[in-house]
Amino acid sequence: MMVDSVLVHVCCAHCAAYTLSFWQKQGYRSEALWYNPNIHPEEEHLLRLQATKKLLEEMRVPLTVYPSYQPSDYFDALNGNQVQRCLNCFRLRLGKTAQIALENGFGGFSSTLLISPHQEHDNILAMGDELGLERGIAFLYSDLRRRYSDSRVMTKPRDLYRQNYCGCIYSKQERDITG
Ligand code: SF4
Repeated sequence: MMVDSVLVHVCCAHCAAYTLSFWQKQGYRSEALWYNPNIHPEEEHLLRLQATKKLLEEMRVPLTVYPSYQPSDYFDALNGNQVQRCLNCFRLRLGKTAQIALENGFGGFSSTLLISPHQEHDNILAMGDELGLERGIAFLYSDLRRRYSDSRVMTKPRDLYRQNYCGCIYSKQERDITG
């Protein structure tokens, strides 16, 4: 089956800018999904969501916001395993994206996480492929890491909130220790 549409999981405005325009330029009908229960605390979650809404409104990309903010989804997904937390965090967010993409008739799903040089890129790819096979929907992949700075250039004039840690409480603690 030909894939002509993609639902892209968005982690933040600064990774979304280039990524959404990339999939649009590839000819896909592209929409975005906000589902990030990993982001703590709630005020931080709201700041990142507001920045994403502002950007995507300007880019005229439709955005679906998952209706509730439930950090318990994230901690349940970790199941006490902090060591492999990122893998389970990817599974949670990409799995929800695949599910919502299927429910809404998209041909594929993807994530802005693929543009970040700070993420475990190979694990995101492996998880996306695994979920795509499990659920019967294409995981659209491109290594966009070389375009990370282009995405930042796109958001710079827009004066959007910019985070300084990945998202979870553990990454915040690590940032606080290392400065
Ligand atoms: S460091 Fe980032 S990717 Fe890893 S678990 Fe925390 S929020 Fe998720």
